[in-house]
Amino acid sequence: MFEQAMGRSAASAQQYLQELHDRFKGDTSGKVADYIPQLAKVPQDAFAIAACTVQGEVVAVGDADLTFTLQSASKPFTYGLALDMLGREAVRAKVGVEPTGEAFNSIVELEEGVHRPYNPMINAGAIAVCALLCESVGLDEAIARGEAMAEGYLGRPSTFDPEVLASELVTGHRNRAIAHLLRHFHIMGEDIDSALTLYYRQCSIEVTARDLASMGATLANRGVHPTTGARAIGSAYVRDILTLMFTCGLYDSAGRWAYTVGLPAKSGVSGCVVGVVPGRMGLAVYSPRLDSHGHSVRALQVFNAWSEDWNLSVFE
Ligand code: GLU
Repeated sequence: MFEQAMGRSAASAQQYLQELHDRFKGDTSGKVADYIPQLAKVPQDAFAIAACTVQGEVVAVGDADLTFTLQSASKPFTYGLALDMLGREAVRAKVGVEPTGEAFNSIVELEEGVHRPYNPMINAGAIAVCALLCESVGLDEAIARGEAMAEGYLGRPSTFDPEVLASELVTGHRNRAIAHLLRHFHIMGEDIDSALTLYYRQCSIEVTARDLASMGATLANRGVHPTTGARAIGSAYVRDILTLMFTCGLYDSAGRWAYTVGLPAKSGVSGCVVGVVPGRMGLAVYSPRLDSHGHSVRALQVFNAWSEDWNLSVFE
């Protein structure tokens, strides 16, 4: 409970979240992602904050039951699925563990010599992971495993937005170019369509801020969902995921994030950020207006304030 996780009652946690919401809701700066036509249709000023403890207690304020797509916040979870299914060695052969300091959709960044994408949190790395999954078990089975994985983290059946998926498949020329580059360097095989379909399918998984907090709490709880008690990911791999979220989860803002917020986290262009306080809580913020780095403006503000006020940095 919040008492155990944070030394404060659920009521005072709820009140604090409301204060954060009140403090930042007036900021309507930033722009909703519109490079995927379907994404531009969201309610632009939606704003939700949620936390879920490893005991399964949830507090949430704002539009916490509004559904959005995970987008890149799916990447750590898909990476975990690949580790769980195929082991570290197979996954490390295709994708590294180095931060890039580059934007999420950076095209040319591949490790010198081996031509692996630097890490699984950027598009190139996530596409390589999806290719590996498809090549191992086939697209249909990979999708089924991705769905089962999401259910484990959500504690309920998972759904996806078919329109966002279709919209990305048609308009995602940059990701297709990345996939071709990976194909050129033999990081993936011929089946670019399967890899991209799985990648976009994972990006289009639907969640609410409450859900996303429980996904974070599952990682905080060593891979076991706090309320269902079901295991979503082997405990051995949770550290891999959290480490990469910490060093690479915020792309070219990762260093500043580590310095100011100090938590493993992952952002998505839908405007969400999931954060993990290991052993204690999962945190989620949703607000679709993005800054020039592609991160939710309000999510960054909320996490900065929250981490400082509650001493959440992993180095505290
Ligand atoms: N669907 C997005 C893309 O690959 C994910 C990007 C993101 O959330 O950063 O373009």
